[in-house]
Amino acid sequence: SNETTTESKTPTTILDTPTNPDSNTPQSTTINGQKQPNPFSKAQIKKRRKQEQWEANKPQRAEFRRTKRKEKQARKAAAHASGLLPPPPPSSSRRPIQVPVSFLIDCDFESYMMEKELISMTAQVTRCYSDNRSAVYRGHMGIAKWGGKMKERFEGVLAGNFHSWKGVRFLEEGWVEAAGILDGIMRGAEGGKLMGALATQNGLEEWKKPTRESKKVEESTAEPNELAQPETQEDQEPSESITAPSETPEPSEPNPSAPSPTTVPTPTPTPKIIYLTSDSEHTLSTLTPNTTYIIGGIVDKNRHKGLCYRRACEAGIPTAKLPIGEYLTMQSRTVLTVNHVMEIMIRWLETGDWGEAFLKVIPKRKEAKLKREGKEGEEEAGEGGENDGENEDEGEE
Ligand code: SAH
Repeated sequence: SNETTTESKTPTTILDTPTNPDSNTPQSTTINGQKQPNPFSKAQIKKRRKQEQWEANKPQRAEFRRTKRKEKQARKAAAHASGLLPPPPPSSSRRPIQVPVSFLIDCDFESYMMEKELISMTAQVTRCYSDNRSAVYRGHMGIAKWGGKMKERFEGVLAGNFHSWKGVRFLEEGWVEAAGILDGIMRGAEGGKLMGALATQNGLEEWKKPTRESKKVEESTAEPNELAQPETQEDQEPSESITAPSETPEPSEPNPSAPSPTTVPTPTPTPKIIYLTSDSEHTLSTLTPNTTYIIGGIVDKNRHKGLCYRRACEAGIPTAKLPIGEYLTMQSRTVLTVNHVMEIMIRWLETGDWGEAFLKVIPKRKEAKLKREGKEGEEEAGEGGENDGENEDEGEE
């Protein structure tokens, strides 16, 4: 080899550090009792050093991963224990569990969309259905203002496949009324009796009517409700976001045909409705049992800024945005597609972790990165465009 080292570089110390007792590399290269020049190039030596260091740090890295894993498990267990998350599904059953949360897609935006946007919207609704259908925890799903061109497309080009969809309410009513109907179903006013039984069977009654501890946990957090309450709306419910129906205050608009509130043993609770919009000043921190979340069924490439927000405000319904800014380095005002918003909520139900939910759903082209401390760095978002398949879990480390 012509890669001989210069005199000044002693080969003995380059290959191996005498102070390193763990090494079994000989301290000098000796052949037949004669000292030989070091046969390794500087780059090779450097590389080797790095490799050795990497090997030496293996136990520390394993320990770091173990700690992280344990912390994550503990956080999840705490969330389950406090009732903020439904209990984990029994490992034996792969059947989705119905939870008392509703997702309503407000499809009253036909006039705002161009033909191809309407087509895209129809595809997004289909995607919402299939995501919810195959979810570990399935919410109640509804479509408001069902009809018009979207229905035509579902009937025609899409061959009426939606007729076989299960667990979705196609409601011709506008979103406020539709939300009330869905709420009633969710609370067991109608066909929801079955749901109630299923919830009990699955131990979800705890989540439906959480214990004192879980209320305490909620109250102790910075934002007592999942939302900061809108200051301007006096007639909104107080900030206990998880409230058994019997504890709910009187409906703000009493039914004139009903007897006076004092004689009603169990007053019908006011539907808890939240319109999701990236323009909201309020941020969602959890999903709350017995709440209907409205998603604006519109694809508009941001032409109609603030449209959904205004719609909700005019109806006096609280709004909230997803906590993107709290978890990802991307803009908190990021406007997502209908199916991504829906899937994020579904993934939250599954993991109790918004960060994880966002990373699984938000497409890579949006450059989503998880906010974290330490030099561990940032975690890249997985692929997850509208037409992508499911992402692999366990992308960590
Ligand atoms: N210009 C429309 C944008 C629609 S995006 C508007 O006025 O909102 C489609 C729907 O997805 C929105 O109506 C909203 O319900 C939901 N959405 C999108 N991004 C969101 C976010 N960051 N937080 C909460 N909801 C969001």
